Amino acid sequence: MNPILLSGFPRAILHVDGDAFFTSVEQAIHPRLRGRPVVTGRERGIIACASYEARALGIRRGVALWEARRRCPELVVLPSDYETYSLYSTRMHAILQRFTPSVEAYSIDESFADITGTRRVFHDSYAGIARRIRDTIRAELDITVSVGLSLTKTLAKLASDFRKPNGLTAVAGRHIHLLLARIPLQDVWGIGHNTNALLQKHGMVTALDYAQCQEIWIGRYLGKPGRELWRELRGDPVHALDSNPKTVYATISKGQTFSAPSSDAETVYARLVKNLHSAFIKLRRYRLRTARLTVVLTRRDYTHRGGEARLNRATASTLEAMPVVRALFNTLYRPGAEYRATMVVLSKIRADSEDQYDLFEDRIRIDKQRELTRVMDRINASYGKHTLTLGPALFLQRASRHERDAPAWRKTALLAGETARQRLAIPRLDIKV
Ligand SMILES: [Mg+2]
Repeated sequence: MNPILLSGFPRAILHVDGDAFFTSVEQAIHPRLRGRPVVTGRERGIIACASYEARALGIRRGVALWEARRRCPELVVLPSDYETYSLYSTRMHAILQRFTPSVEAYSIDESFADITGTRRVFHDSYAGIARRIRDTIRAELDITVSVGLSLTKTLAKLASDFRKPNGLTAVAGRHIHLLLARIPLQDVWGIGHNTNALLQKHGMVTALDYAQCQEIWIGRYLGKPGRELWRELRGDPVHALDSNPKTVYATISKGQTFSAPSSDAETVYARLVKNLHSAFIKLRRYRLRTARLTVVLTRRDYTHRGGEARLNRATASTLEAMPVVRALFNTLYRPGAEYRATMVVLSKIRADSEDQYDLFEDRIRIDKQRELTRVMDRINASYGKHTLTLGPALFLQRASRHERDAPAWRKTALLAGETARQRLAIPRLDIKV
């Protein structure tokens, strides 16, 4: 195996990733939970995060709670407390900023940091600085993180994933090939299902196979995004860090309880689509994308059934998400059962920084869907959030309205320039003239 690069660290990029972040925060706040199998996600009936103790018992995120409780009766099941998780996220970010101003908050529990040129300041090697960052986070926040150090964002992310929890993996230029040889292609950031299938056909199995291809071949088959990935894997930074402060949400969820429980499939699905529509509007307002969708149906007796799906690539397009929501609905819905609430939760949320297509998707169709979404947003911004909505949600207009569903007077009697969300600060009286 020949090295790809001979130098050490022409650039030093860190990826810091919280280990089982939500449950680690819970265990930091509640010492009695340490060493015990803990999961979060009680409110959705499906596990959002599992502690390492729970993982050791075979319990992972995405598993239904009833199933997890059956397998492990001593399981501690907590409701998600996203405000606290965000606070810890901000504190983790602040610790990184003590070491370098160039820090990108990528998701609630992941950050990138560029520490190039800081060795003299700290009288330490890059790996030493990375270790100090990891240890400072542990000492001050009482949670562990895994740190990857390498030459590009893509390599740093692969490195942080390599050894978990509380890991530190430093990959210098001359060692890149050793890391890549151990990474299956489908684990590489940006390689989706279809791309992986095509590359397999050409005999590529590991990330190293990809990085050792001829650039011209990659360009011909995979275009610009493929070439960019190729360069990143070879230690040539293409993706810059974005250190502009931004709002990173842990999750965005939209749910609704119906005033009268319903057993009509199309009505329940229509509610769900309305939740999806609202959640994605918020996602786009903050210029974010999501890579995981959770659907929760609540029955009349308040039992939840949840299901989740990981998307090939992060998206902000409602139209792209709709078939996934339909599929989840189909697996969760039981004919005859009465439902009183639906909820859509978006997680794995990240900044909408660069346009990432899976290398082999139908880009024309995706661009069309995006354009359509932009137009919908513009119309809804002017005329109200649900003026233009998705087809299935139209069932709600046909379904007979329960009187408690009627909107409040304040929402229907709007002054000029008001929307139901944004009100003019003018006191009003409900009087007939
Ligand atoms: Mg993590």
